[in-house]
Amino acid sequence: MRSKVVVGNWKLNGSLAGNEALLGALLREITGNGSAACAVCVPYPYLAQVQGLLKGSPIAWGAQDCSRYDQGAYTGDVSGKMIAEFGARYAIVGHSERRTLFGDTDAMVAEKYQAARRAGLTPIFCIGETLEERERGETHAVLARQVDALMHRFGVAGLDRGIVAYEPVWAIGTGKTATAAQADEAHAFIRGRIGAKDRDVAARLPILYGGSVKAANAVELFAMPNVDGGLVGGASLVAEEFLAIWRAAVAQLKGS
Ligand code: PEP
Repeated sequence: MRSKVVVGNWKLNGSLAGNEALLGALLREITGNGSAACAVCVPYPYLAQVQGLLKGSPIAWGAQDCSRYDQGAYTGDVSGKMIAEFGARYAIVGHSERRTLFGDTDAMVAEKYQAARRAGLTPIFCIGETLEERERGETHAVLARQVDALMHRFGVAGLDRGIVAYEPVWAIGTGKTATAAQADEAHAFIRGRIGAKDRDVAARLPILYGGSVKAANAVELFAMPNVDGGLVGGASLVAEEFLAIWRAAVAQLKGS
């Protein structure tokens, strides 16, 4: 059975003092012992601080992007190996904000995914449709294109040590959440697409939902059979809110 995973994406937020207070609050409650997995993906400059605060705890940490290059003349980039040196477990790749604001293409995202794997990180591969695409009935076509870009380039086996995050663009940071049924349907489609190439890889793959996850909707979302947890943006910056989401994942594990 797949476990549940709750990952916070701090985006371009944080400060040394604020991070310490936020993580202190999380550490007072989050314990290991077979619970849902928990992680925070932080801006690069805070990786060292977060490593210092979380080392030895059940909360893992990661970055929000990863260069597709391992080293060289790529000013401003940060490699997977550098991220891994700070004890990070995860790197988000293909977040819709990187795709829409910074021009990440499907091909670039696939290369970033593979670069993160080369460095021993677990990539969190974000995919999702825009509102216009959903309204035109293109959701499946978009998800298929995004997943296939990775599988065609690196094979389905590449997904075996990764995580997929389904994040409908219209639900990110907007307060609009996909219904639990919409999320589950999209997750089932993604799992089926991957399962057509390798049933075992698809069955093991955690598929997280992202898009305005909060305490008020986490229970319903995490109860869906294909929703293996959440990638949480805004709500991950508020300790009590993030803890309530994590509790929803733990409760789901205990209940199932
Ligand atoms: C995200 O950053 O991946 C995200 C889903 O943001 P939010 O939870 O704020 O919608």
